[in-house]
Amino acid sequence: EARRETLLYLDGVNKSFDGFKAINNLSLVLVRGEMRAIIGPNGAGKTTMMDIITGKTKPDSGEVYFNGDVDLTRHDEAAIAGMGIGRKFQKPTVFEGHTVEDNLRLSLAGSRSIFTALVHRKDDGERAAIARILDTTRLSPKRRTLAADLSHGQKQWLEIGMLLAQDPELLLVDEPVAGMTDAETEETARLLREIAETRSVVVVEHDMHFVRELAVKVTCLHEGSVLSEGTLDHVSKDPRVIEVYLGR
Ligand code: ADP
Repeated sequence: EARRETLLYLDGVNKSFDGFKAINNLSLVLVRGEMRAIIGPNGAGKTTMMDIITGKTKPDSGEVYFNGDVDLTRHDEAAIAGMGIGRKFQKPTVFEGHTVEDNLRLSLAGSRSIFTALVHRKDDGERAAIARILDTTRLSPKRRTLAADLSHGQKQWLEIGMLLAQDPELLLVDEPVAGMTDAETEETARLLREIAETRSVVVVEHDMHFVRELAVKVTCLHEGSVLSEGTLDHVSKDPRVIEVYLGR
């Protein structure tokens, strides 16, 4: 039963770079439908952990399973993306010269074969999917705006929308609110909470105000391992966490 509810399972994962242990006996369990915030000082291993989940980096040892029995260490990055694991990097990579709507259309088409993309070019399913994403990301009023003319926050939301077009079961998001205004940060928290109603989300984040807004379980990494895990209140009062943040 527990296994069926588990979407992502990391156990005893290790990864060294030139003898330096970036990931050290790391374990992490994400249940289906959960959103988790990952915090930790610079160099804690957050990016490497995301790289291991998405297949960009192969661990030296340990177990990484998706959806119960899919061994992610046996698959490459493209195959893992195709399994429904989407990743958003910090810097948005939208097509600046295209409108918001066309960016979503391109992403939607990219998630299918060229044949089905052509056949279904104008079907109602596509239109409905785009309308739904525009609604979720609150970008409907900007649908005909060139991506180049969006604000920094809107570009980030568009890129999240482009990932939603690929219909991921698990969305990995890297520091989504870096450089955002307070209002944009709040809006991003709302967006991710809405996404997490139907998908699982892992957010790597430094901004504790934003993590508080997300109101989710927090995992604090340090030296490649889990240092503390629980509510933000629990984690932020953990003496070990205080020490690594103050001791920097
Ligand atoms: P975080 O994202 O938490 O800041 P990283 O996962 O980027 O941490 O890095 C963890 C440690 O691993 C750091 O000390 C970093 O220098 C090292 N590291 C990460 N990737 C590489 C790499 N490709 N080659 C060498 N060292 C790396």
